[in-house]
Amino acid sequence: MAINFKPTVEPTEKHEDLTRLLDRVGRMARGLQYSHGLNPAQWDSLRFVARANQLSRTPGGLAVFLGTTKGTASQTLKALEKKGYVRRVAHKTDKRVRHLAITEEGAALLNEDPLNCLDIAVRGLDANLSQSLTSALTQLCGEMQNRCGSTDFGVCTRCGHFEGETSGGNMRCGLKNMDLACADAGKLCVSFKPADGICGSCG
Ligand code: SF4
Repeated sequence: MAINFKPTVEPTEKHEDLTRLLDRVGRMARGLQYSHGLNPAQWDSLRFVARANQLSRTPGGLAVFLGTTKGTASQTLKALEKKGYVRRVAHKTDKRVRHLAITEEGAALLNEDPLNCLDIAVRGLDANLSQSLTSALTQLCGEMQNRCGSTDFGVCTRCGHFEGETSGGNMRCGLKNMDLACADAGKLCVSFKPADGICGSCG
């Protein structure tokens, strides 16, 4: 007996709709970020410097985060330094190494982050829908990274190199063979390797 199956929407159409919607949200979010005299790459960089751990807060780490060349990342940094939002700080023990740090002005500017508009829209979603969307986007993020090969960013407790808490109350990184203060271990890391196969940036 023939099965009378009539889908209401063609699967390809449904997927295309979702792809366009995701692209549209992304473009709207980018468009918001031409504000306060910054462009989207500069806002991304400012957020990165505020959220990344000390190991990652370097021009090279920023280039990986932005998915761009070191030269392009350096131009973006120069613009932020000129505006007084970011500065370079010498490492405590190795003066040859310089880390990026956010200035008071940079931190104050982040309080007016245009991406807060998206944040407010997300907060307005129903709790169940928000949870489902988070799961779906986490999976999508992981898929994209597998297929397109972009670098994953995440925090120590979700990292395959994480060796747990030390007796002194710090966090142990097996890759760098060093201890990190708890506050730093909760920030994004350029050397992150997912311990559970979940996207570090989104999960
Ligand atoms: S444990 Fe992982 S996330 Fe933490 S500092 Fe080491 S490499 Fe980075």
